[in-house]
Amino acid sequence: MYNINRERLIKTFVELAEIPSPSWKEEQILKYLIKRFDKLGANCQTYRCGESFNLLIRFKGNSNQNPILLSGHMDTVIPCDKVKAIISDTKITSDGTSVLGSDDKAAIAMFIEAFEYIKENKIKHGDIEILLTCAEEQGLKGIKGFDLSVLMAKYGFVFDSSGSIGKAIIKAPYHSNMTITIKGKASHAGMAPEKGINAIRVLSEIISQIPQGRIDEETTANVGIISGGKATNIVPEEAQCQLEVRSIDQKKMLAVEKEIKETVKKICSQYRAKSTIERTLEYAGFKISPESTVCKITETAMKKIGIKPEFIAMGGGSDTNIINSSGIKAINLSCGMQNIHSTEEFILIKDLINGTKLVLSIIETVP
Ligand SMILES: [Zn+2]
Repeated sequence: MYNINRERLIKTFVELAEIPSPSWKEEQILKYLIKRFDKLGANCQTYRCGESFNLLIRFKGNSNQNPILLSGHMDTVIPCDKVKAIISDTKITSDGTSVLGSDDKAAIAMFIEAFEYIKENKIKHGDIEILLTCAEEQGLKGIKGFDLSVLMAKYGFVFDSSGSIGKAIIKAPYHSNMTITIKGKASHAGMAPEKGINAIRVLSEIISQIPQGRIDEETTANVGIISGGKATNIVPEEAQCQLEVRSIDQKKMLAVEKEIKETVKKICSQYRAKSTIERTLEYAGFKISPESTVCKITETAMKKIGIKPEFIAMGGGSDTNIINSSGIKAINLSCGMQNIHSTEEFILIKDLINGTKLVLSIIETVP
């Protein structure tokens, strides 16, 4: 099923990979994409987001299927200023001096080739929106700066997860960040240590008592940054740490946060230190039932092209989290990229082809 134009697909992928697009500097790839999608008969609209733009591409349908959203991101991590793609019989790599950028240009190449195929083969489809975001690698900044209420889609298929085609992420965590600041009292460390309150000491006791690492199957916590103190002869007045809590279950995340807050309170009162805690929600999690329509479409679409679906959970966030919080039921599909965020990144040509087939199969399977 689906006789994909291998040469054109590889050519598109390489062209995309070789356009540098670090986060917030997507203007060059935007130009390329608008040109390609215009030629395919789409309506392209850019939406300003900080110093860059998100791109929404719309294909008007010619059937009465439900509208869907396909999504990926345009930016890559660094180093990516000079990407040279090396093509072998089975895979594409960089020359080892940069990332390849298959995260997430594999998805974009698949979308483009799918619509080349649709045009050539006059395939019927419903309304399709393709959202390509900027600055995803900067904490989902692109999609967070996009007004999702302009979308009409009912179901969303994000192609932004690593591994061979066939994986579908249907669960991803809630994620919050906390900054704990301890205020003690400065004093001379040699002459009057008893007059001081050592903020570093207080903070270390807090850190040693709060939950950390893998808390349960769905929940993790990690202190990642610590700072404080000015000199060894001063009892430090201030110390600070930053941590994150993640859980697929919102209640569990909130329970861990509560435990952290109570520990801070308890230890600070023992030492007569003061504290402030700042907390932000990075993104909400999602949990999609394997019985839901979006999963059923994916399952059927994969089976049609001979791929065994594997529904899994992920420990990190993606644009999919934000799309789900807007009410569109969305899942995150693997798009073939491997060893991502490293100069060892590569993609198998087989996966590039299967991913394009999957995009087509999803488009045709949508009820
Ligand atoms: Zn990505």
